[in-house]
Amino acid sequence: MVTRKTVGIIGAGLAGAACARALSVAGFSPALFESAAHHAAGASGNAIGILHQLYSKDHNLASQWVERGIETTQRWISELTQFASRPLAGCCGVLQLDAQASELIHWDPNGGWVRPPEFVQACLTHAQAIGAEINFGVRVESIHDDPAQSMVALTLQNQDGKIATRHFDAVIVCAAHDASRLLPHAMLNLNSIRGTISSYRLPQDQSLPCVICAAGYASPSVDGEMVVGASYERLADGEIAVSEPDDELTNLDRLRIISADLAAYCEKLAPENRTSLRCATLDRMPHAGRVLDPQARLGASISQMHQMPRSSRIWALTGLGSRGLSSAPLGAEIIAAGLCGGLAPVSKRLLQAVDPVRFALRRHQRRKIS
Ligand SMILES: Cc1cc2nc3c(=O)[nH]c(=O)nc-3n(C[C@H](O)[C@H](O)[C@H](O)COP(=O)(O)OP(=O)(O)OC[C@H]3O[C@@H](n4cnc5c(N)ncnc54)[C@H](O)[C@@H]3O)c2cc1C
Repeated sequence: MVTRKTVGIIGAGLAGAACARALSVAGFSPALFESAAHHAAGASGNAIGILHQLYSKDHNLASQWVERGIETTQRWISELTQFASRPLAGCCGVLQLDAQASELIHWDPNGGWVRPPEFVQACLTHAQAIGAEINFGVRVESIHDDPAQSMVALTLQNQDGKIATRHFDAVIVCAAHDASRLLPHAMLNLNSIRGTISSYRLPQDQSLPCVICAAGYASPSVDGEMVVGASYERLADGEIAVSEPDDELTNLDRLRIISADLAAYCEKLAPENRTSLRCATLDRMPHAGRVLDPQARLGASISQMHQMPRSSRIWALTGLGSRGLSSAPLGAEIIAAGLCGGLAPVSKRLLQAVDPVRFALRRHQRRKIS
């Protein structure tokens, strides 16, 4: 009998749910642990998110990553339809304007809006249907790599305070900012950016025909609600993401740039605001791959990414920033391919751009020069 490799996944947001699905499909036996009582409790819980390209004049690596990511996410949306009770997304097109909304940057007929919590739920439902174990109300307290046993131990705490330990062949950390606490020596360089989206009740006859992006974005009316976003406030270490009254006002300012008439209409309404934290890296690219091996010494001969020492069993998919919808499925497919020993679904350059050891390598190179 062939035993399926066991993989522990930490977090049930877009990243964790995508990994649970990709790994189940690839034939692994994943067990996911989420500290909250339900899925999409963090940044992935916004009612509506936008799936849109990232334009750059030279079509740089960040734009290429988002492009490949959107292709993957759109494929997943069509595959996951059968696991959802209502449409996961609306392909209404995205009108990308400059920050002042005075110039057209691009019209993307294939872009649109997505319901992130439903997308997460559909990934988990599919994963569970093919054998994944999903646990809510279980916080991962610590990760211990045990090379002697070729296993990783997770220390888990449930909501009654009960502690347990589980062992896995590999672990994927999809815990957004908590990755820095769980992997203190991995040099992931994560920071927290508070964001608020504002939802306004809007009749269909007032709805925008497509998503419009300028300094912010506004969605068409979905289920009678238009979503406007998103405030962007970098937090100091340890600061907590409370909603500020200013967030709603800055969202209204973003809407005013897109449509003064709609903003005047919405000014009289009381929107529903949702505040959460984006987890971003210093270079705004996500982490998708094996993390640095904290035990290994970085010798003077190391100068390239492939020479960096990596943990053989601990992976991360985090730092998705403002583009979780396009990064999560692609990141999950990269990790699934890596765990299978197969070919990555992106070019070597893109793989290196999201490699979790890149900041450690840059620091090592700076130290060698100084
Ligand atoms: C205001 C705002 C607007 C946005 N708009 C868009 C948009 O339009 N388009 C787009 O693509 N993206 C958007 N994003 C970004 C997107 O929401 C994020 O990139 C994405 O949700 C991140 O997913 P994640 O799974 O990495 O993190 P999260 O969704 O935060 O999930 C992490 C999960 O891990 C759990 N966890 C943490 N620590 C532990 C632990 N120790 N044990 C167990 N569980 C743990 C948490 O409870 C949480 O559920 C927006 C973000 C914000 C804040």
